[in-house]
Amino acid sequence: MYSDVIKEMEKYAEEKSVPIMQKKGMTFLCKFIKKNNIKKILEIGTAIGYSAINMALVDDDVTIVSIERDQEKYIEAIKNIKKCNLDKRVSLILGDALTLELKDKYDMIFIDAAKAQYLNFFEKYKDNLVSDGFIVSDNMEFHGHVENYEKIENKNLKALVGKLKKYIDFLNNNDEYDTKFYKVGDGIAITYRKDIADE
Ligand code: SAH
Ligand code: MG
Repeated sequence: MYSDVIKEMEKYAEEKSVPIMQKKGMTFLCKFIKKNNIKKILEIGTAIGYSAINMALVDDDVTIVSIERDQEKYIEAIKNIKKCNLDKRVSLILGDALTLELKDKYDMIFIDAAKAQYLNFFEKYKDNLVSDGFIVSDNMEFHGHVENYEKIENKNLKALVGKLKKYIDFLNNNDEYDTKFYKVGDGIAITYRKDIADE
């Protein structure tokens, strides 16, 4: 059963501190995929395959390409995807998303990897998006750190959160793209091209 595998993954993630999507954020994203009839998804940051599996289960004709740079997580994700019989619809790439070159276009690009690199992921993959597609970014609140930026004392954490804030500013002040922020899970941003929204 899928639900057993999903529960096992939640337990594994909890025990090994793998930052999989929060449940409410996951449900929100799956509803969004269903509502917008999204079929072809590129995910940056597979981890153990939790979000990829959940997204693939939205509909029988959803296909996902997901990139993971950590070999151990990649292997774990392969196992989980096989257990769910989703290996025909969920393809994994072991590699660094910052250096890969993909040619295909996707209905949705889900950015859920190294937080310091969100802007780079966005710039790198925006041309892999169909003209009326969506870029979804997870962890926009980063456990409340974004809101409490001024109070952060740890230098490294502050630098990282500063980069996330820069990305949020980039999304907020963009001529080409509109973004809506949702206070669900760890904060989710949904971005789409302005010219399409105006039609
Ligand atoms: N989307 C997953 C969670 C991903 S956690 C889920 O909700 O189930 C973030 C993952 O991104 C980590 O496993 C990390 O190894 C991976 N990652 C970070 N930077 C990356 C990069 N540049 N290329 C590929 N994967 C990256
Ligand atoms: Mg995340």
